Amino acid sequence: MPASIVWFRNDLRLADNPALTAALRSGRPVVPLYILDEETPGLRAAGAASRWWLHGSLHMLAASLAKLGSRLILRRGPARRVIEEIVGEADAAALYWNRAYDRSGMARDGEIKQTLERRGLVAEGLKGNLLFEPWQARKPDDTPYKVFTAFWRACRALPPPGPLLPAPARLPGPAHWPRSDALDALCLRSSAAADKSDLGSVWAPGEASAIARLATFVDDGLDRYRLTRDLPGTAGTSRLSPHLAFGEIGPRQAWRAATAAGLSASTEKFLAELGWREFAYSLLFHLEDPSGQNMRSEFDSFPWAPGSASLDAWREGRTGYPIVDAGMRELAATGWMHNRVRMIVASFLTKHLLVDWRQGERWFWESLVDADPANNAVGWQWVAGSAADAQPYFRVFNPVLQGEKFDPRGGYVRRWLPELASLPDDAVHRPWTAPRPLYVDRYPPPIVDHAAARQRALEAFRSLKRSA
Ligand code: FAD
Repeated sequence: MPASIVWFRNDLRLADNPALTAALRSGRPVVPLYILDEETPGLRAAGAASRWWLHGSLHMLAASLAKLGSRLILRRGPARRVIEEIVGEADAAALYWNRAYDRSGMARDGEIKQTLERRGLVAEGLKGNLLFEPWQARKPDDTPYKVFTAFWRACRALPPPGPLLPAPARLPGPAHWPRSDALDALCLRSSAAADKSDLGSVWAPGEASAIARLATFVDDGLDRYRLTRDLPGTAGTSRLSPHLAFGEIGPRQAWRAATAAGLSASTEKFLAELGWREFAYSLLFHLEDPSGQNMRSEFDSFPWAPGSASLDAWREGRTGYPIVDAGMRELAATGWMHNRVRMIVASFLTKHLLVDWRQGERWFWESLVDADPANNAVGWQWVAGSAADAQPYFRVFNPVLQGEKFDPRGGYVRRWLPELASLPDDAVHRPWTAPRPLYVDRYPPPIVDHAAARQRALEAFRSLKRSA
């Protein structure tokens, strides 16, 4: 009997997976497939930390499928070619996937759909990765929203996400399985960068951990979320981002779990953060290349400084500003950074050091376990000022005051910069005011003076306005 292929991409879960449900409902044997595609032009290769996560997530998905009497077929190569091969090997009559929203992914999917449909196969993309499709919330003049608050208001006026789809209890397989590569042959964990870090002791990729993390957060963190979400020294946020980035849990599951207990101010705040993800995906869908091109074209002539030495100091957490350096060390050690600190380090790179936001975006892409094509690009452009809905250009975070406000006792900084551990609270965010023996000369002086750097940034932003 001809098979239905379910093509897993960034939706590595069994529960609430519309593509998997569609394949199962087709009544045919189901062939689960994952393709490591590093050859289709325009697709961005995953960074080291994401590859580490992907290995673990594929391992867990394959184990879950095995429990259902099924398998995960792993293949490497350009998706169009691999799909052709698997369709032949499995004698497939249908292919299902959950939609992508980036230009290259959509073009690839469109071509595959056309080719298969011409040959009489069913080829269907479904909504599995978002709460609302990017074309659902549109302004009265039928153009897409560029400002978050208006976008989210429009989304909240739409019918809320519907009921969740259950994970299948069993999955019928074909009589003859297509060939699969071994997971290790994909070489996802061979990178030195990922090896050096502590990822395995911090994270557990896979659907089961994602579900457990969501449940723990809803039971034990959601009611305080509004108050704790900005404090990097507390476990005040869900830490669901890598699970959401790989689709080990879908946003509808997060929405459902959060709203099940009723709508409080904290729940609304959490939903709004899921809303930022929706907003970023809406921009990804409507724009050509948000990780490469300024959303506001006047930024094309911004006088970025050519600064490889300062970029290195930023990457390595040696800027002399504790909250910035703690964030960059957290990123290196865990592949993750708290949102407030992401904003501070991104502001520092683009405003204090005047380094092009694309350099920071690339470093995050390489280093984050939750590296996401929409959230990362939009996060960087928002902080740099080049997004439509950006922070105003004169908002230059003071890294000392930000540290003192959001990490008042210095717990976060002390955790990631043990060389500052013995500083008193009032010096931990300004170590240059403490006697040198307290940090034993192991911590550098500030790489730039805040007041001078702020002036330089304001002048650069004003030059942009003058030339506009
Ligand atoms: P929670 O506060 O628990 O939020 C729940 C979920 O909502 C998150 O998991 C995430 O999916 C979404 N979310 C929260 N805040 C945002 C936001 N500001 N924008 C978009 N979605 C959001 N997020 C990524 O997932 N991947 C990235 O590559 C990424 N890069 C960023 C780069 C910069 C410069 C900045 C300022 C932000 C970036 N973010 C990125 C957004 C945000 O920092 C993370 O989503 C958040 O820190 C994840 O932690 P959490 O899961 O505990 O979040």
